[in-house]
Amino acid sequence: MGTVRDMAELVAVEEALAQVLERVRPRAGEPVPLAEAAGRFLAADAAAAVDLPRFPSSAMDGFALRAADTPGTLPVVARIAAGRPAPRALADGEAMAIATGGVVPEGADAVVPIELVSERDGAVVVGDPVRPAANIRPLGGDVRAGDRVLPAGLALSPSRLAALAAAGVSHPVCAVRPRVAIVATGTELRPPGEPLGEGEIYESNGLMLAALFRSLGALVEAVETVSDDPAAHRSALARGLEADVLVTSGGVSVGPHDLVREILAELGAEEVFWRVAMRPGKPISFSVRGETLVFGLPGNPVSSLVGALLFVAPALRALQGAGDPLAPWAWGTLGAPARRHPQRDDFQRARIEESEAGVVLVPIEGQESHMIVRAAAADALVHVPRGDEPLPAGAAARYLPLGAV
Ligand code: AMP
Ligand code: MG
Repeated sequence: MGTVRDMAELVAVEEALAQVLERVRPRAGEPVPLAEAAGRFLAADAAAAVDLPRFPSSAMDGFALRAADTPGTLPVVARIAAGRPAPRALADGEAMAIATGGVVPEGADAVVPIELVSERDGAVVVGDPVRPAANIRPLGGDVRAGDRVLPAGLALSPSRLAALAAAGVSHPVCAVRPRVAIVATGTELRPPGEPLGEGEIYESNGLMLAALFRSLGALVEAVETVSDDPAAHRSALARGLEADVLVTSGGVSVGPHDLVREILAELGAEEVFWRVAMRPGKPISFSVRGETLVFGLPGNPVSSLVGALLFVAPALRALQGAGDPLAPWAWGTLGAPARRHPQRDDFQRARIEESEAGVVLVPIEGQESHMIVRAAAADALVHVPRGDEPLPAGAAARYLPLGAV
């Protein structure tokens, strides 16, 4: 635990997040073909280009007719397939066979499903009265042309892509994807697959961060690894500062080889905060140079992950104009008592156990910040806010689902 003076210098998590979001300037929009728009954020409301349905259409395979002619035996005067309009209007006392999605002919006000009738000698025998409007999907029943299909700020999920396609929106206006550069620092880092020398370890943060940021809609332009050497830092960080977002890993603590903050300052980045009252991940730094946001994440893999989830992910969403950049936190209950730190918020890795009472968050064994293998088994990142009293099992807690992380 740090000294009182040490604590006084830390910025609270919520304050740090507010400082980050305050400095985000959302990107402009660009029309994007639907086939490439999955996961992108809408930068403007999308309005329907056509009514949906575009014509009164049949909800069933059956017969179009007038409800007033039922019950009765009606001659079948035409057969209407989906995609082919009726040859003419329906007259009193007639029926037309119709497929699901077929255009209901003028003059008809109901469709009777094929299962409820019999067809004999070119006529359909309808035994029971049919309710007017039965099995007809009215024109514009889902959305009217010109009305909003989706609001700005939503990410385009599969069902939302389908909604846009159905409503005739072929090129939704999406936020330009933020360009991200990643620089992993550490002389000890080797790419996976290469032999390790004495004291060396495999580089894992760059890969993790790149995958995470891509999943959030970012264009990851570069992932570099640099040794703890000022010249190597200088050139990689200078390149990285040309991106919209620069994220570094390692080298932001107080050791003699921790060069990131010093060299960022040399390159003209202004530090907004350094060291957040949280664990893991205390030594996080955040700076800006012009429009570029710079996140200095600690090197321990779990600290890097937590810092990225807490600060970089919301920034990437906000840059894309997300309506809710802090999504998708949810509520559950603690599956075990949680000790609390008086000044620092804890972010525990937990397994989710579903119960009738809801989500129960059971902390995993191995909460130390170097234990990425343990963390990778977690379903949730649980927020245990700072406080004097421990929280009992069963207490409500917010968590971030880690299923896709
Ligand atoms: P640092 O923040 O640079 O002091 O690093 C803290 C710890 O994280 C050290 O044990 C580093 O070896 C380790 N570490 C730093 N960067 C990475 C990385 N990119 N991948 C995996 N481990 C790392
Ligand atoms: Mg280091």
